[in-house]
Amino acid sequence: MPSLQEFVDEQRALEEEASQALPWSFSECTYGKGYIRQPVFLCLSCQSPHGICAACSIACHGDHEQVELFPKRAFRCDCPTSSLSHKCTLHPTQMLPNDKNRYSQNFHNKFCRCGRQYIPSEERETMIQCVTCEDWYHESCLNLRERPPARSANEPSPSGTDDDAASDVSDLPQALLSEDEYDSLICADCVRKSELLQRWAGTTGVKVVAREKDQEWRVMPPGGPANEDVDDETVDVGGSELTSVEAHPAKSEESVKANEEGAGGSGTKRPLDAAEEERPTKKPRSLCHAPSQSPISKRVFNPDDKTPALESAGDVFLLEGWRSRWCQCPDCLPAFEGEAYLLHEEDTFEPPEDPEAQMSIEELGMRMLERLPRDRVIDGIHAYNQLRDRLVTFLRPFNQENKEVRQEDIEGFFNDLRSGR
Ligand SMILES: [Zn+2]
Ligand SMILES: [Zn+2]
Ligand SMILES: [Zn+2]
Ligand SMILES: [Zn+2]
Ligand SMILES: [Zn+2]
Ligand SMILES: [Zn+2]
Repeated sequence: MPSLQEFVDEQRALEEEASQALPWSFSECTYGKGYIRQPVFLCLSCQSPHGICAACSIACHGDHEQVELFPKRAFRCDCPTSSLSHKCTLHPTQMLPNDKNRYSQNFHNKFCRCGRQYIPSEERETMIQCVTCEDWYHESCLNLRERPPARSANEPSPSGTDDDAASDVSDLPQALLSEDEYDSLICADCVRKSELLQRWAGTTGVKVVAREKDQEWRVMPPGGPANEDVDDETVDVGGSELTSVEAHPAKSEESVKANEEGAGGSGTKRPLDAAEEERPTKKPRSLCHAPSQSPISKRVFNPDDKTPALESAGDVFLLEGWRSRWCQCPDCLPAFEGEAYLLHEEDTFEPPEDPEAQMSIEELGMRMLERLPRDRVIDGIHAYNQLRDRLVTFLRPFNQENKEVRQEDIEGFFNDLRSGR
């Protein structure tokens, strides 16, 4: 049973929680900005598929059940269009459906290659977004961990405050590749559509997760631009028949280091420069530094009689600084056409922060008063102060006696107030 002090503390905590949950000002729908990359929400209470902007998610669908889909590229808010029967409160003119929006399975509340729904109360895994298709993947579906059992009903659910999500994840064993060991993911479906990505897959900055038949999942190759410790003993990428013919990625990396960098190379060096020296090529070295397809990549994407298949979904994990490592010579550059985000980080619209989100109820009250005409402000402050004084007087004995404030007490106070007592 809460005392007054506890009640006040709890009120503060609730205000803080509310401002964190709804940190944006929600006065303007992004429809007018056109097709932009922005955080998108799916309203489960309205018909699918559609996506709505952050402002509409609060202003127009605030009392509906929603799932945040996070940033989606080239997306225009559907709330003001006729594809939603629910009327937009921020953009009252009804518009035609957005014919350029693309609706992936996420817009049907399905995620990952397993197609599961996202149920926050049951999900314990971190999900990772593919930079290309922007779908979300379970770490277990990326072969980074075993699928943990769903949170059961009698387990403590992640309600409450603080970083439950983080603390909840930490009760799982460490993933094969933790989130801070790589910068971005490109899912297997997207890699299989790109010759460029398959060419770079399996180089030091573009890891794959794979395994030999009946063996453990491993990150291949080990080491990398951000991690100078190349562990030679665990490198077993291509089988002996391959390593004798092809450049050995890890060894090549070592020799690049020795030749060009000396000790303590920065994170910007280009992986597999040395492999290129061994590559039979007519181009001069300075022109193109893209690797030939690595033995790992061959075994994952194009196995044949000579190159036995490695078991792998084919997802690639891009290490920090990856955008600057591609070759952009005239031969390689056309492969990036329409995929500008592979070269430059994209602009993503961020809903403007609500300056009032951090305020307490009292501060908000004062802010409202400031907006009223002068004479009404005086009246307002007067009324506010009167109310506050009476409430404080009413509540003081509760505090002094450390007595519980019940709902009836508060209701009684306001009833008395209304009836003019
Ligand atoms: Zn909107
Ligand atoms: Zn809705
Ligand atoms: Zn709206
Ligand atoms: Zn999955
Ligand atoms: Zn993808
Ligand atoms: Zn090139």
